[in-house]
Amino acid sequence: MKLIDPCNRHLNYLRISITDRCNLKCIYCVPQNQIPRLTHADILTYEEILRIAKIGVKLGISKLRVTGGEPLVRKGVTGLLRELSNIDGVNDLSLTTNGVALRDNLAQIKSAGIHRINISLDTLDRKKFQRITGLDLFDQVWQGIEMALDMGFDPIKLNIVALNGINDDELKEMALLSYKYPFHIRFIEYMPIGESRIGNSPLLLAPDIKNRINELGRLIPIRNSENDGPAQRYRFDGAVGEIGFIHALSQHFCDRCNRLRLTASGSLRPCLLSDHHEDIKGPLRKGASDQELAEVFIKAVRHKPSDHNLAVGNPSRVCGQMRAIGG
Ligand code: SAM
Repeated sequence: MKLIDPCNRHLNYLRISITDRCNLKCIYCVPQNQIPRLTHADILTYEEILRIAKIGVKLGISKLRVTGGEPLVRKGVTGLLRELSNIDGVNDLSLTTNGVALRDNLAQIKSAGIHRINISLDTLDRKKFQRITGLDLFDQVWQGIEMALDMGFDPIKLNIVALNGINDDELKEMALLSYKYPFHIRFIEYMPIGESRIGNSPLLLAPDIKNRINELGRLIPIRNSENDGPAQRYRFDGAVGEIGFIHALSQHFCDRCNRLRLTASGSLRPCLLSDHHEDIKGPLRKGASDQELAEVFIKAVRHKPSDHNLAVGNPSRVCGQMRAIGG
């Protein structure tokens, strides 16, 4: 059986948030006021995550990503990665991290079967890094990135949330990294999810970012292959790395969306930008059979909206916090 939604999209990609905890406090992700954290009991155990993932794989999921919160703050995460990569039918397992704990974990991450990694890096300036994240850890993150490169992780994607007045002056510098390093630089539009400390400054959208970067050289389009994500991919002539734009707001890619999310609190969420979710932890903890849990997947898929309704100039927000849903 396959997970096909009412719009005939085949969902084969599950993103798993394993914690709502993070070791950074990014201004666009963490609100001013404390938001209650999930309790230990609220968060899915690794055994529960594995069982849910295996049921998903039986339903045609073949691609998994572990995210958070910050996945590397949860104890034993590399053991989970190993178990996930050993599931028969998983042919792509990856990790999204802020890079703070990379240095100390890379060897184990690699031996757990992860070969490619996404690292969030919104600035190349140490002071600005502290301003954005609350902590003076740029050097540590950059060392982790260089180590990942030396250890042969490929591709290494650097995710940059582009923010007016915060890192817009650095976009070209970040794009230039792709000449020197084989990184996939990904510029992501800020999405109004949950509460944050971002004011109402106009959004910096992908077409504008692309225009600015175009001044550096001709961007040659790269054709997306079947398993690629939503980024529009380009390469500068002669560059070793590439540039991508993720225009979640300015140009929806919902028609190609193949994703489901498992939140840290145990819900299946068919769309990042819509609040609909199906509780799977409740039935699981009440002793549901695999078949009954498979039904929860099917119900979630049935509710996948054809399109999300966030748009440029539309002030609506998604309620959940990104770090619990899993970006
Ligand atoms: N802690 C990990 C990290 O920093 O990569 C994984 C979780 S984080 C929520 C995943 C990604 O979501 C990061 O690249 C982060 O920059 C991005 N993100 C968080 N809030 C966002 C927002 N409101 N709009 C766009 N991207 C956002």
